[in-house]
Amino acid sequence: MKQCTLCKQIKPLDDFYDDKRLSVYDAKRGKKMRKNSSSGKQARCKACHMKVAHATRDKKKQAAATQRYQERNRGLWKTLPAGTTKKCTGYQGECKHEEGPELPANDKYFSQKAKCKYGLNPRCRVCHAAENKGYHARKKAARGD
Ligand SMILES: [Zn+2]
Ligand SMILES: [Zn+2]
Repeated sequence: MKQCTLCKQIKPLDDFYDDKRLSVYDAKRGKKMRKNSSSGKQARCKACHMKVAHATRDKKKQAAATQRYQERNRGLWKTLPAGTTKKCTGYQGECKHEEGPELPANDKYFSQKAKCKYGLNPRCRVCHAAENKGYHARKKAARGD
């Protein structure tokens, strides 16, 4: 019998999978050693192992879905009809671009950002640069130099 580290139930060894990572290389002795403790079984029972494996798989699936969702707009601006514009959200309340805030929706005016509208950054390149500059200036001021 062996206690599962997750559900804390004491179960027969048959309820645990064999631990394949049991042998570890012992550099001192120069050979593979069995880890102490072990009954040669995993710490978690089969039921818990499956639950955990399932959760990880779901998480991976979810991450892939999130990525697909975030990537859905990648390059979308390339497929827009000629003359399509996009409104820059501006920096400090206004667009700093001389032609803004309504600017042609392409990568000349906006940097690419897959998860945003048309796959473009909400701010035009000028505002984006202004924001970066502002950010660094604030950082500099905070440091006091
Ligand atoms: Zn368990
Ligand atoms: Zn702008």
